[in-house]
Amino acid sequence: MRPLSLFYPTRCVGCGEKTAEIAPGGLFCPVCLEKWRAQKKEICPECGKRQSECRCRFDPRFPYAHLIGYDPAVPGVGTTLLFRMKNKPLPRGTVFPANELAKLLLARGWEEDAVLVFVPRAPYRRRQAGVDQAKELCEGIARETGLEVVPALKRVKLGKEQKYLSLKERRENAAALYRPDPKKIAGVEGKRAILVDDIVTTGSSAAVCGEILLAAGAKSVAVLSVGRTGKETEKI
Ligand SMILES: [Zn+2]
Ligand SMILES: [Zn+2]
Repeated sequence: MRPLSLFYPTRCVGCGEKTAEIAPGGLFCPVCLEKWRAQKKEICPECGKRQSECRCRFDPRFPYAHLIGYDPAVPGVGTTLLFRMKNKPLPRGTVFPANELAKLLLARGWEEDAVLVFVPRAPYRRRQAGVDQAKELCEGIARETGLEVVPALKRVKLGKEQKYLSLKERRENAAALYRPDPKKIAGVEGKRAILVDDIVTTGSSAAVCGEILLAAGAKSVAVLSVGRTGKETEKI
C-alpha cells in the first residue's frame, strides 16, 4: 500500500519545499532529514562531546540531555524547527520531536518509575505558538513510552516577560516564575520526574522547576530538551 503522503504533498519544515516524500507525522524531506541527523551528531565546541552528551554549565544536580545545539544565528534545519516551535504550531504537530526525545529518554534508561512534567510556557508564548509546545512534547513522549504526564507546575504571571530581562535578572526572575500546582504536584512523589522543555537557555528555569519537584518528594529530576543554546547570553 502506498502511503497517503504520495497523494498529498506536504511542505518540509526545513527547506519549505512541497514534497510527497515526508513520512506520516514527519517534518522533513529526505535531504533535510539527513541534515537533522548530522546536526544531532555535531560536537559541542566547549566540551568536545556530542550535543546529547554535553552538560556544559548545567546544574550538576540534574541529569540532562538534549538533541541539538541551537544557535539562532546559524541557519539549519534544527534552528528552523525550534524557531517554528517557539512561534507557530508545527504543521503535523510535535510528533517528530517527541519521538526523537522518547528515543533519547529510553537510551538513557530514564523510564523506570518516571513521570513526565513540562515546563509551562508563558501565556504570551502560548498565544504566539497557538499551543504549549512543551506540553505537546510531553504528551507525544507519553504516547511513545507509556509514561504518565503530570502537570505538576504552574507559571506565575509577572510584570516583565523573561525575554526582556538581562541574564542576571532572568536567573532571579526564574525563581519567582514557577509554582507547584497544588492539585497535581503529589503525582511526582517517589517518582523520577522527567522535566521536558523545547529549548534550554541558561538552565535557570529547569533548575527552579527541578527544585520544586524535589521539594515535593520526587526521587530525582532529569531534564530533556530538543535544543540547547550555546551561549549563556543568547536571547530567544
Ligand atoms: Zn527539506
Ligand atoms: Zn558542551
